[in-house]
Amino acid sequence: MGLNCAIDGPSGAGKSTIAKELARRLGFVYVDTGALYRSIGYYAVSKGADTASADEIVPLLGDISVELKYVDGAQRVMLNGEDVSDKIRTPEISMAASNVSAIPAVRDFLLNLQRDIAGKNDIIMDGRDIGTVILPSAEVKVFMTASPEERARRRYEELKAKGQDVNYDDILSDINQRDYNDSHRETAPLKKADDAIELDTTSMSIDEVVGAIEKLITAEQRKESAPFRTIPAFRRWFYAVLRFIVWIGFSIVFNLKYEGTENLPEHGSVILAGNHRTWFDPILIAIRVKFISAYMAKAELFDHFPLNVIIKAVHGFPTRRNSADVSALTRAENMIRNGYNLTIFPEGTRSKDGKIGRAKSGVAFIASKCGVPVYPVGISFKSKLHFRSKITVRFGKPISPAELHINSMSKADLRAAGELIMSNIAGLVDEDA
Ligand code: C5P
Repeated sequence: MGLNCAIDGPSGAGKSTIAKELARRLGFVYVDTGALYRSIGYYAVSKGADTASADEIVPLLGDISVELKYVDGAQRVMLNGEDVSDKIRTPEISMAASNVSAIPAVRDFLLNLQRDIAGKNDIIMDGRDIGTVILPSAEVKVFMTASPEERARRRYEELKAKGQDVNYDDILSDINQRDYNDSHRETAPLKKADDAIELDTTSMSIDEVVGAIEKLITAEQRKESAPFRTIPAFRRWFYAVLRFIVWIGFSIVFNLKYEGTENLPEHGSVILAGNHRTWFDPILIAIRVKFISAYMAKAELFDHFPLNVIIKAVHGFPTRRNSADVSALTRAENMIRNGYNLTIFPEGTRSKDGKIGRAKSGVAFIASKCGVPVYPVGISFKSKLHFRSKITVRFGKPISPAELHINSMSKADLRAAGELIMSNIAGLVDEDA
């Protein structure tokens, strides 16, 4: 069961912008429930039905299958197998969504889909009734508002930036109408849950709102029964100094290039998964990631002094290859829960020619067990390393536990998740570095 954050509020309060940014920072899955109502509104409009008439809409539900998919961390809505994510963003469909959302059968139809996603992942879900009806026991609940004029202004800017031909007054009256519909309908009207925190964003910046909610979530994460802890400050300082010294050394010996650093994790307790080229790959990654990492290293390395002492000092722990090493997996899970990242090379062994191999199942298993994202890393260089060789380390967008689609921890699920991770890594590696 993941940590659930519900963000409710009227149209245009900035929920989706905030929720997306929060999900990105925290490695959570963002669920935009408005898109579900929009897809039903879209279907009804395409069939020429009156979206305000339950008699016309309810019979259509039997022909509809709605699914949410996650591609590169972004939500896509599939309506009967077709990706309608972009088509549902017009003012006409906004109003259709508002109309169909007042029909109880439509809300029932979408209820389990929303709860299923929330049950499996750490999520930020935005909508109108998430804190009151869909996830009444969400750990963090926020009710986000802003004045109608400010909300209309934001929507106007957003649609104009997308190249749509829009008029401010139309948008304002649309928003007023949708506010009225949403708060006056009989089923699940828009209202603040008793235990939700109200946030008026009229004069707040996006960063301020994101920061405020992020604090609520991280406080909650610390309270959770199997907590994710934070590493003590003195250790983090010591590590920062060490990292700096190693960075200078490596920058002298090699021509290091780091790319995709905007994708670097902003907190600990994540998995970094890279392709494996040299014994110092872990160092190449550690130089740029602020948070201390633990490493799995092959058990044989722990037989030799002083290597064993050094590896232990940098939080390396042994794993037996070619077997499901349960104690190594448990150790990995504990390190992640204690605030450490886990840097892992899913192929298990170094690639001599730079070709990407297949992933062992451990990485997907740990990601799913801990419910943490996997940050792919690609390391590229020409085959023979020498003084001042160019090495490129590229960080990719995190893969959320939801994208890994592991439902049963079956071999097939783990294999598919491993392949997804390796293909993300492969996309970050230069073939002819
Ligand atoms: O948030 P968005 O503007 O995309 O939502 C479209 C419409 O869907 C809203 O005007 C609202 O009527 C409806 N909705 C809802 N319950 C939700 C999410 C959206 O009724 N959880």
